Amino acid sequence: MQIQYFLFHKNKVVAHTGVSMPQPYSHLEKKQLCRSLEAAPTCEIAMTQTTFAVELDVDSELPRGYELLSLRSLFSLVGEHHFREWGKAAHLLHWWRRHRFCGSCGAPTADHPLEQALICDDCGVTYYPDIAPCIIVLVHRPQEILLARSPRFRTNMYSTLAGFIEAGETAEEALHREVHEEVGVRVEDIRYFKSQPWPFPGQLMLGFFARHLSGDIDIDQVEISDAGWYSFDRLPEIPDAGTIAGQLIRQHILACTG
Ligand SMILES: [Zn+2]
Repeated sequence: MQIQYFLFHKNKVVAHTGVSMPQPYSHLEKKQLCRSLEAAPTCEIAMTQTTFAVELDVDSELPRGYELLSLRSLFSLVGEHHFREWGKAAHLLHWWRRHRFCGSCGAPTADHPLEQALICDDCGVTYYPDIAPCIIVLVHRPQEILLARSPRFRTNMYSTLAGFIEAGETAEEALHREVHEEVGVRVEDIRYFKSQPWPFPGQLMLGFFARHLSGDIDIDQVEISDAGWYSFDRLPEIPDAGTIAGQLIRQHILACTG
């Protein structure tokens, strides 16, 4: 089976100019690109036996015929399935950059011989890729869903609520806490939906539905700039159907109206 390389440069995806769907590179293509850059990759991490995440960390610009794309822009170009591989590559490279030295003794780390991990040659501490679990939840009441806008959103999009699970917390506790902190309401009847890796830089989103129990919307003004109850026929701009947020919204409406 052919070896495939997912190439990154300056934290961005290396793509052929004008190609609508960026592809991983063959060994020959990677070699040619490195030769024209006059540099070897700074990092090659095995994702599977046949796929590698590669970072080209050089000062020079890419040769003609190549362009750099943001990982986010790739989501709409390649679809959820292919995005998973580019996302995994980006996630692993991000982790590698932050664990080149041992956090315990300060010595350089090296590839673990048996596992997808880095190991400190001096003190033997093993570092596995960091994954940050988050909850993402669609809060609903009859014929309406709660959608909120983050000040970080670049468009006028409204989405589901989300937040990191804190140390010592269950996913359910995090859900109750985040919903109450962000929009001031209480929920019940939590139902698990599905999960989605979200490599910005290394989250695992655990998706839930939750029914509104009590309270009026009272936003925190920090993580949320606006929130409201929306009926199914008067939705604002919502996330892409490839995202778990977009799927939670569409799945709920389908279940209620279908
Ligand atoms: Zn160490």
